[in-house]
Parts: sequence; C-alpha cells; structure tokens
Amino acid sequence: MASHRSIFRGPVALSPAVRHANVARLGQNLFDVLVIGGGINGAGIARDAALRGLRVALIEKGDFASGTSSRSSKLIHGGLRYLEIGDFRLVREACIERDRLRRRIAPHLVKPLAFLFPVYDGDPVGLFRLELGMWAYDLLAAFRNIRMHRRLTRGQVQQLESHLRQEGLRGAKLYYDCVTDDARLTLETILSASAEGAVVANYVGLIALLKDGGKIVGARVRDQRTGDEHDVPAHVVVNATGPWVDEVRRLDDPASSPSLRLTKGVHIVVPRTRIGNTFAVVLRSPRDHRILFVIPWEDQTLIGTTDTDFTGSPDQVTVEPEDVDYLLEAVNAFFPQAALSSSDVVSSFAGLRPLVAPDDQRDPSAVSREEHIVTSSFGLISLIGGKLTTFRMVAENVTNKIIHALPHNHARRRRTRSVPLIGNISPAKRTSPKPLPTSEIANHLDRYGTRMPEVVAIVQDERELASRIVADLPYTKGEAVYAVQTEMAVQAEDILRRRTQISIRNDRAAHQAAEEIEALIAPLLDQKASSPSSGSSGS
Ligand SMILES: Cc1cc2nc3c(=O)[nH]c(=O)nc-3n(C[C@H](O)[C@H](O)[C@H](O)COP(=O)(O)OP(=O)(O)OC[C@H]3O[C@@H](n4cnc5c(N)ncnc54)[C@H](O)[C@@H]3O)c2cc1C
Repeated sequence: MASHRSIFRGPVALSPAVRHANVARLGQNLFDVLVIGGGINGAGIARDAALRGLRVALIEKGDFASGTSSRSSKLIHGGLRYLEIGDFRLVREACIERDRLRRRIAPHLVKPLAFLFPVYDGDPVGLFRLELGMWAYDLLAAFRNIRMHRRLTRGQVQQLESHLRQEGLRGAKLYYDCVTDDARLTLETILSASAEGAVVANYVGLIALLKDGGKIVGARVRDQRTGDEHDVPAHVVVNATGPWVDEVRRLDDPASSPSLRLTKGVHIVVPRTRIGNTFAVVLRSPRDHRILFVIPWEDQTLIGTTDTDFTGSPDQVTVEPEDVDYLLEAVNAFFPQAALSSSDVVSSFAGLRPLVAPDDQRDPSAVSREEHIVTSSFGLISLIGGKLTTFRMVAENVTNKIIHALPHNHARRRRTRSVPLIGNISPAKRTSPKPLPTSEIANHLDRYGTRMPEVVAIVQDERELASRIVADLPYTKGEAVYAVQTEMAVQAEDILRRRTQISIRNDRAAHQAAEEIEALIAPLLDQKASSPSSGSSGS
C-alpha cells in the first residue's frame, strides 16, 4: 500500500485550485473509502483512514462544519450530566478523549475551563449527591483532569461569583472541563486528513449511491458551485451526515426505518458585562430542572442550550422566540441583576443533536448520547449519533469497520491516538510576531497554532490586511484571504461564521461586513485554474 500514500499524499493548503482539482479527482480515482459529510465525525473518519494508508475521499454538501459541528456548546467535556442518566461508559470514554485532545492532539484548540456548579434549596441533586458525582467524574478521568474538583462554601461562592443569586444558595462545586472552537476543530481535522492524502471537497453533495450486484460500489455526487456531476468509485461508502443520516440511508434502502431522534438545541450570546460571570456556571432551568451552561467567551457569554424534539427538515432549523425566552428566564433567575431581555442578545444559533432513537418516548434530555455504527445489507456504513468530544475514538471504530469491509483488508496501525492535528503548538513554542497587536496575536495563535506565521506573512505583504474585519473583534482581513487560499472558504459566510466566529459574536456586524468580504475574496476565487501555493503533489 505504500504506493497509495505517495500517489495520494495531499496538500496542506486547500486553495481554490486544489478544490477544483479535488472535485475532478473524485471521478478519476478508485477510492478505498468515500466519506459523506464534513462535520467533525466525517472529518475524523477521513483523517483516521488516511493515516492508516487508505485512499480516502470526503465530500460535504455545504461548507465544512456547516451542520451541527459549528452549533454545539463548544465543550470538550466528560459530560458530568450523563452520570445522572447512568451513561458511565460514555463519561469514561469522553474524559479520556478530552484529556487526549487537550494534552496531545489539539492543545492550541482545546483549552481548560473552570465550571462552578451551585446548589440551591430544593434542587433535585443536593450537595452530598453532587459531591459523589464529582468523585465519580474525577475517578472516571483516572484523576488526570486539569485539576480535582473542589467544594465551595456559600461564602466562597459569594466571593468568586458575586452576581450569582444568594437566596437559597447552599454551596457549590468547582470542577474542570474544556472549551474549543468546534468549527475550527473540524476544519483542522479536515486539513490534517488532506495532508495525509484524503481528497476533500466542500459544496459537493451526495445525490445517489451506485450499486453493482447487490453491493454499493461508489456514489454520484454534484458540485453545488458548478452543477457538474461525477461518479466516484469506492470500495466502501461511509454515511457520516449527522442529522441527515436517515436521508442518506433511504438513498440506500427506501424502506429503512428511522434510526435517529433529532432534538434541537439553541444558544444565545450576550455581552458578558450584562451578566458579570467569571466562571462557566452550571444552572438548572427553573421550568424543568434541565442543566444549562453560562459560558464565558472572552467579553461575551454563551448561554445554552434548549433540548426539544425536532421533526422538520435538518436543512431548516431556526431559533424561535420561545427558545430565547426559555434561556433568558433561566439566566435571570440565577443572575437577577442582569434582567436580560431579547434586546441584549447579540446572536443566536440552533443545531440538531443526532441522537440514537430510543425504543420509548423518554424526555429528550434522557436520551443516551452514545453512538451506533451500522452496516446495511448493501454495505453502507452509517454512523448514528456521536459527540464532538469523542470524535477521534468514534472515527477509529468506524475505520476498523471500513478496513474489515475492504477487499484487500490489510491490518494497519491506528495512529490518531498520538498524531497531533497540523496546527498543534505547545505554549512553550509561542512567539510574538511583530505586525499584529497583542490581542490579534493571542487570537491568531489560539486558532492557527503552528500555521500562524502563514497568516502573519499575508498581513506583512499588505498592511491593509492587518486591519480588522469588524471593529470590536480581533479578526483581520488577512484571515479572510488566508481562509480562501488555504482553508477552502468560498464565500463570505464561510469566513464570517466558521473560519472566524464573527457571526456568532456579533451577528449584525457580520451582516454589515459580508459585502466587503465578498469583494475582497472574489479575485482570489477566480484564480481557480492557477496552481496552489503549496500544491498537491499527487494529482
Ligand atoms: C445544541 C448542541 C450542543 C452540543 N454541545 C456539545 C458539546 O458541548 N460537546 C460535545 O462533545 N458535543 C456537543 N454536541 C454534539 C455534537 O455537536 C454533535 O454530535 C456533532 O457535532 C455531530 O457531528 P457530525 O459530524 O456527526 O454531524 P454534522 O456536524 O451535522 O455533520 C454532518 C454533515 O453532513 C453533511 N451532509 C448532509 N447530507 C449530505 C449529503 N447528501 N452530501 C454531502 N454532505 C451531506 C451536512 O451538511 C453536515 O455538514 C452538541 C450538539 C448540539 C445540537
């Protein structure tokens, strides 16, 4: 298989020219595996399979991470809450993966975050039970979490989180999990897969599965930008389409029964000064006692999430006024001086949890977050469920199934447990390049890691590109250029919503900047016939 790797070794810079070449290559090569879906799970599978030497293609009908993987709570966590529903295996696996991502795979993107979990009179879980839960959490992480949990008295809580409601407060626990930029984690996993030889393309959708003799032998795909269609031959097709998984399963077998229970989760963003929280705070909704998070996000606070059944098309998920009311009601109950109203909300977003359908009609929050991997009689491998936190482990399991299904079935070494993502940088190696102010440097380092000098080089070449896209957020115009030249961004929304977080930090400002960004990137997109800056050696 060594020849596969040299033929398929891929580009690190996903330029417009590389996208163009990759789409053409889809129809020209026989792949071991075609992955449908460029969310975190599809990205993880493509990377794992490419690292094991398989010939991999990945297509995504929208932008990478445009589905659930940019609409999560952005926590890389063991899932303390899942202890309540007895998911000990999931918590154990998630704790191991959290620590692996934080220490080794993506320390530049996965950062520790301190959580304060207050307990009030009448709460369903009192201080004693919560203490047991915290010990279980630390134990399931093999005591390797950032720090052990701590007990806080009422007085200590008053000091640490002074705006939190004091009435009825009995004490709190302080514990640690991690936070990330979900869209960037997905993108960097895609870039890493590409660097290992995966042929990846966004805005390319699956339209049909190709079959021969009762077996899937590839797929017909359409480039959404040109309308061109290609038949992609592949030994194995993997359905990693998250909330769309049943749609794709029906392309394989129109009679297949639903495997998912979709639930909608909404987040809102408000200026942090309005709440004044220091820590990530765990709250219980006064309406239904569900757990919610109030997460500090630099000078803003991310609040979420709702959890309600969803039955429409996954392409049309919207935030409704009642979703916002539910979240505001909870925050106001615990931070009474905030008196938040809908006019404080600077942005909101909704995502769908692709949960494995249970046999009964239990409450959405009580549905297990575990995943299933199923293979149809025609050979389609579908991933049902799966969290952001556990994507690496799930990808490893899916790749094991792929290898089993391959005609040549060579055993290959698993590598994703130790090989970091391409931007991995240890804090000790951080430097402060000159042409950017400190706030931009910190922001760029956190997001690009070792790739940061490439962004700085763009800014150095043209000073105008050092200016901000919107005044109050530290994202530069150079990043928009970089996103097109190396991260396969093809429109302003890709840049404003996923390559940066401008849309979710200030929706109105993002709208105002969209036209200028389209004008900035248009000439770069036109250069699709020119060769990429760090081009593919393989096509
Ligand atoms: C509100 C909310 C909060 C969450 N918070 C957390 C959290 O804090 N931590 C955590 O670990 N997990 C969290 N999760 C769960 C986690 O975000 C998801 O499980 C994960 O992102 C799912 O990734 P995925 O790749 O399976 O699906 P997706 O990210 O949805 O990716 C599937 C992709 O398939 C593409 N696709 C669909 N049909 C086609 C087609 N025909 N052709 C080509 N492409 C197609 C879609 O466009 C989409 O991009 C949260 C989920 C929600 C909804």
